[in-house]
Amino acid sequence: MKKKKRIALVAHDQRKKDLLSWVEYNADVLSKHELYATGTTGKIISEACSIDIHRLKSGPLGGDQQLGAMIANGELDMLIFLWDPMTSQPHDVDIKALLRMSVLYNIPVACNRSTADFIISSSLSTEEYDPIIKDYSQYISRET
Ligand code: PGA
Repeated sequence: MKKKKRIALVAHDQRKKDLLSWVEYNADVLSKHELYATGTTGKIISEACSIDIHRLKSGPLGGDQQLGAMIANGELDMLIFLWDPMTSQPHDVDIKALLRMSVLYNIPVACNRSTADFIISSSLSTEEYDPIIKDYSQYISRET
């Protein structure tokens, strides 16, 4: 990871206000990084803050999967994902897959504001950092 991080911002509907308030509070720091968001989350943030953000598809329409693919391709460094613990989601499998990718590729993930605060205030967020990726090569099936 370079000093300038590629950070994804995602919030479920009941958590969008929380994420927006977190983004507003941290706007100066966040503007030094490259930001991505799922569709509706990105729309709400870009309407409220003068901050550049790449908008992907809405989460339930494939945005979570796009982020998962970015992680798998080494195109994303951090995930701030305020998912809703009180509401079931139609794209639950996509959410699970996105969280799985973030663990598999060992990128920092915040699922609540406290963790997001700890991540964004860490000196590592503005330094170069190489996450250690576990060697999964034994899982790759070999052609016979
Ligand atoms: P949204 O998607 O930003 O388009 O609402 C969030 C999600 O449900 O993953």
